[in-house]
Amino acid sequence: MKLPLRDPDDPRILYVYSPRSKKIALKVKPSEREATVSIPNMKSLKRAMKFVREQKDWVEVQLEALPPAQPFSPDAPILFEGEIYRLVHPGSRGHPKVNRETREIIVPAPDDTFSGRVRRLLIREARERLTEATLQYADAVGRPVGKIQVRDTSSRWGSCITRNGEGHISYSWRLISAPPFVLDYVAAHECAHMIEDNHSAAYWAVVDSIFPDYKRAKKWLRTNGAYLHAVGAEF
Ligand SMILES: [Zn+2]
Repeated sequence: MKLPLRDPDDPRILYVYSPRSKKIALKVKPSEREATVSIPNMKSLKRAMKFVREQKDWVEVQLEALPPAQPFSPDAPILFEGEIYRLVHPGSRGHPKVNRETREIIVPAPDDTFSGRVRRLLIREARERLTEATLQYADAVGRPVGKIQVRDTSSRWGSCITRNGEGHISYSWRLISAPPFVLDYVAAHECAHMIEDNHSAAYWAVVDSIFPDYKRAKKWLRTNGAYLHAVGAEF
């Protein structure tokens, strides 16, 4: 057996190797929708599994408290731009599209590729919206943008590195499921880092000057972030 390893009885539990931890540590991560068990060496795997069985109720309560998974399956509801849309699988031919009037996300695909294509469509939509928002707020702070990347970052909604005067910004595609003002806020947040590479009072003054409603958006992410991580989750 090799680490990382999924628990054979519960796929929500993941055993990971952590040479620095001296003992077995169990942690529920809402952003990953899983419980990780860090073990110092391979020899302690058996002991870790026994430990998890003893803590089963605690793990269960923590994982059950997360918003229900929204797997990408035909007819399933899906959070998109802060609203509930429905996934439609019209067969295998045609182009995927979002219908904002009927609140449908229509994805033609051979059966076994449906979920992968839904994900690609959401990433494409996220990239389009985030690029637009980034250019707008970069313009507002008067700095040039370099590369804009949209990925599945688990712990952060966005990040910004300034190199040779250009901001290279990376986002989580999951922001497409948040209300538009929240996505806009994250873009404004990252663009403001091109002026102040910290979270000082001076930094927040920059944010305030380009996105005055930032406190409401921050609060939304704090309260509802786990809903964004439920999108596309299998369990
Ligand atoms: Zn920041």
